Amino acid sequence: MTSDARSRLESRRAEASERVATTAATLAELMHDREGSNDDDEHDPEGVTLSSEWSRLTGLAEAAASELQQVDDAIARLDAGTYGVCANCGRPIPTARLEVRPFATHCVACAEKLGL
Ligand SMILES: [Zn+2]
Repeated sequence: MTSDARSRLESRRAEASERVATTAATLAELMHDREGSNDDDEHDPEGVTLSSEWSRLTGLAEAAASELQQVDDAIARLDAGTYGVCANCGRPIPTARLEVRPFATHCVACAEKLGL
């Protein structure tokens, strides 16, 4: 079970870090486009498009970075031997839940109780 969890986390980690890299690259490109364009956003339809694309991408970048952080935390718990144990009640988190959410830190009951 532990080695399954590790390989699951490692593939999640690879996906998340790839997303971090691609969103960062796209943002850098967009930043470059922005610099080259008229910065009067309000009167430039393309500027508005760039702005909404920018906020969409920063949202994606943040989500990817936070997933990467969660995966790293989960791998650290795996190394520490506390992976798969509810951080609130100390009971084991069901494998089915870990398959869906490999970086879950709480069992279903506690997650609901804590509003996670
Ligand atoms: Zn619990």
